[in-house]
Amino acid sequence: MSFVTRFAPSPTGPLHIGHAYSALLAHDRARAEGGQFLLRLEDTDRARSRPEWEQAIYDDLAWLGLTWPEPVLRQSDQFDRYTAALTALADRGLVYPCSCSRADILAAGVAPQEGATYGPVYPGTCRARAMSDRAPGDALRLNIARAVACTPAPLSFVETGPDKAGPHPISTDDLVRNTGDIVLSRRGTGDPAYVLASALDDHHQSITQVVRGVDVFGFTAVQVLLLALFGHRAPSYHHHRLIRDASGKRLAKRDDAKSLATYRADGATPYDIRRMVGL
Ligand code: GLU
Repeated sequence: MSFVTRFAPSPTGPLHIGHAYSALLAHDRARAEGGQFLLRLEDTDRARSRPEWEQAIYDDLAWLGLTWPEPVLRQSDQFDRYTAALTALADRGLVYPCSCSRADILAAGVAPQEGATYGPVYPGTCRARAMSDRAPGDALRLNIARAVACTPAPLSFVETGPDKAGPHPISTDDLVRNTGDIVLSRRGTGDPAYVLASALDDHHQSITQVVRGVDVFGFTAVQVLLLALFGHRAPSYHHHRLIRDASGKRLAKRDDAKSLATYRADGATPYDIRRMVGL
């Protein structure tokens, strides 16, 4: 298959018209390319994911007229694969256990960066800890300086979205300085972080183009790095504009009033939704 894309919502709340835009755009691109559109459920946050939101995703997307192959990949069924990937990174000395809370990180005097995707850059408090010292509930962090040192340079990805189209060389200095040692396995639950699970699944599902909102553009460089660590080629990326409400605010899951289900209940048609998002 020459073109494979995906829509990868988290079943933690209702889909809104911003999600509809993302799903329709990916579906339309796949159709135009004679390729495939996949649906993936990103439910690694097991505390917040709910079966009723999963069902609502199927209902909303089917109502919009989208089709996708079954079975749908559900990330909560794939934890063994993510754990194996983390073990492989640990065997190469690229991850370490970390017990720091967010408050500990802020108390270390790290200022959250303006517009940073990840919040404050981790100050490295636990970086010298060995995996053999891992306590229950510890997070696992990527040692990013080591990771970039053992990645074949140069890293880059291709973007086709309207705002940032073109080749994007990745500055490894920038990754070390501004992204830092990100969490790959979450504190407390041990659940895999979005950046890891999503990048691994893009490879696992042979995605050739990731279509998603420009709000997650900042995760791309580190996802390309993670893929490179496993010897995987990155897909291309199409980061689309965000659908905003009348006041210019980005729609969020908690804005139930703007959920697709509400529009449906108010008598809107799938065609109305396409028109509202400019498709
Ligand atoms: N589960 C992520 C979200 O809902 C997907 C982001 C992506 O497509 O990579 O924002």
